[in-house]
Amino acid sequence: MVKTFLWRCMRHILPVREVLKSKGVSFGGGCPLCSSQYETISHILCECTVARQLWCCDDVLHGLSFVDFVESTLRDTDVELGVLMAVKFWVLWKVRNDAVWNSKQWQLADMRRYMGSLLSAWQEAWPTISSTGQAQLVRNNDWKPPPLGFLKCNVDAAIHSAGATFGAVLRNHEGLFVAALSGQLHCSQDPYLAEALAVKEALSWIKSRPKRRFFKERRFYMESDCLNFCSSFNSVRQDFSIVGLVTKQCRSIACDIGNVLVRHVNRSANQVAHMLARATGSSFVLRVWESARLVVFRIGFNIWYSFVCQKIIV
Ligand SMILES: [Zn+2]
Repeated sequence: MVKTFLWRCMRHILPVREVLKSKGVSFGGGCPLCSSQYETISHILCECTVARQLWCCDDVLHGLSFVDFVESTLRDTDVELGVLMAVKFWVLWKVRNDAVWNSKQWQLADMRRYMGSLLSAWQEAWPTISSTGQAQLVRNNDWKPPPLGFLKCNVDAAIHSAGATFGAVLRNHEGLFVAALSGQLHCSQDPYLAEALAVKEALSWIKSRPKRRFFKERRFYMESDCLNFCSSFNSVRQDFSIVGLVTKQCRSIACDIGNVLVRHVNRSANQVAHMLARATGSSFVLRVWESARLVVFRIGFNIWYSFVCQKIIV
């Protein structure tokens, strides 16, 4: 159904006002979601005020035509990027249709929740998809860089006899180090709670960074090897346990940041964050490494990082 929908978008036959007008069916009026005089496919899915809010980006197309944008996204090696685009289109089309046919207005938070439930459903369907080999490629590979315009944050927690610590490492689309954070977690030695708190620390850190410094585009992948947390984060189910409340806080911070996609990766793809979390065990001081300011720390981290990479390869 979603594939057919995408095909209709690409073939320029989705029944928006401008398309209907070109077929001789004119209703008048413009976009049902904003004050634009024109309702084109590109407008409703990418350029409309509502679409830009859902995309968390003012220039979704980056100068490309709608068809080129969709094609380049689907051609990307990262399957999830294509899925994310399809889900956003699907949600926006539903929001548009509800405005036209049911006079219903959607809140942004509801759109995000609906988006999360669709992504969650897709993730649960992965084992089926993996039989084709395509999704398996994403899930079982070691770490790989995010697409252009995204930063990827790997986060992990470690339990010690004295408590829990965490590590978070940000890298860009070239796989280059951008910044890292490590510190102590104030919690019991509960691995699930520690993993959730680690993500909360990483998200709070990202949120607190000034936009001008390495976060020109606030689009992030957040990767954790805690499947329970990732499933809970992407679920719409209510969870009133302590870890459920922490997860809810994570969702709220992610919402403030904008475009954050949380996903589960296996241990081998999260190794650098894991090592950083464990290495923090001897020191409970909150440490930040930033490429722009603390060059010395960065060099130190890169040497350590190279060492970790070699260790993984061996
Ligand atoms: Zn509009």
